[in-house]
Amino acid sequence: MSALTQKPVVLRDYEDVRVRRGRRSGLTVAVAVHRTVNGRSLGGCRMKPYASPDDAVRDVERLARAMSFKAAVAGLQLGGAKGVIALDPTESLTDELRRDALHDFAELVESFEGRYITAQDVGISAEDIAFMEQFTDHVAGRPAAEGGCGDPSPYTAHGVEVAIRASLGSRTISGAHIVIIGLGHVGGALAQRLRNAGAKLTLSDVDQGKRELAQQLWAEWAEPGEAMKITADLLAPCALGGILTPESVAELRVPVIAGAANNQLSDESVADLLSDRGIVWAPDFVVNAAGLIAVADELHGFDPERAERSIAGIGHTLRQIYARAAAGKNTLLAAKELAAERSGIELEESDGDHV
Ligand code: NAD
Repeated sequence: MSALTQKPVVLRDYEDVRVRRGRRSGLTVAVAVHRTVNGRSLGGCRMKPYASPDDAVRDVERLARAMSFKAAVAGLQLGGAKGVIALDPTESLTDELRRDALHDFAELVESFEGRYITAQDVGISAEDIAFMEQFTDHVAGRPAAEGGCGDPSPYTAHGVEVAIRASLGSRTISGAHIVIIGLGHVGGALAQRLRNAGAKLTLSDVDQGKRELAQQLWAEWAEPGEAMKITADLLAPCALGGILTPESVAELRVPVIAGAANNQLSDESVADLLSDRGIVWAPDFVVNAAGLIAVADELHGFDPERAERSIAGIGHTLRQIYARAAAGKNTLLAAKELAAERSGIELEESDGDHV
């Protein structure tokens, strides 16, 4: 009998969901394995405040299912899973509590005996992964100095560039006007890559400190609200999700959208609105899969060149999606169908809220 208390959750479509109160931290830790492929699933651990343990469990389930689609469309032989460490919004996170929570979570990961492999996500660094490795072997996304892929963001940025090339069709990046919203780990690296490729950039972030990057790259600056309405060749959302709403889509003046941000659509129906307006939307879970591709590569002994070759496949996948969309469906549905075909997952009504 484990020293942790475990509450079983029965879900029709999930292989295994485990929720525990960590015996050291007292925090809720949870792992949802949506499915395994060849006995394995992969998905990051998210450490963030949740209003209640139930909210954390709902989130981990939703994200795990979405990871199955992301891995499938990326052509990875891995099932989808996710982990969460639910912080108490009323309690401050001391170093000791953080270590205890990571230890509790690692113990939960170990209980899956390799069927779940954890990695970085919101609130978890490569160093946290290295810390958890003391308690479980089933981790990926370790620091580069230890033979891991380290921070996956540069790979994600490369994948977004590949997606942008595929989405611009016959146009080249050189001379194209591209707006990037969100200049963090991914958006900042993407801006540098696109500048090197000769794009004309407009950059935007809520953090005014990022204006310096715009100056360095000879880019224009726009405030986030305005950036959505700029006439340009492509918009790359690289900040938070939910940026594409019925209201914002009505004001867009770009023919193409391809960016790293997760969950860009406020809801699934927005994919139809984009399609109706003739705007090509590169589905986010296809565009931003390169981080997952790099982390998954670690399972075979990390080889950056092999990872980069797989990342190049994002362009081919998008072209397949666009060909399907040309037959009259929106790109979200086309991407989900492709993922389902590649993996055998059955599509459900609720599959819009992905990754
Ligand atoms: P990050 O936290 O490093 O950067 C986010 C940036 O967005 C910050 O500079 C922040 O100031 C800015 N921002 C926040 N709200 C904004 C707003 N309303 N308007 C404009 N800017 C805003 O995050 P990241 O690692 O660069 O990830 C960016 C997005 O890509 C996230 O949605 C993330 O889930 C997704 N993603 C990242 C990776 C990865 O490898 N890091 C992989 C897959 C998906």
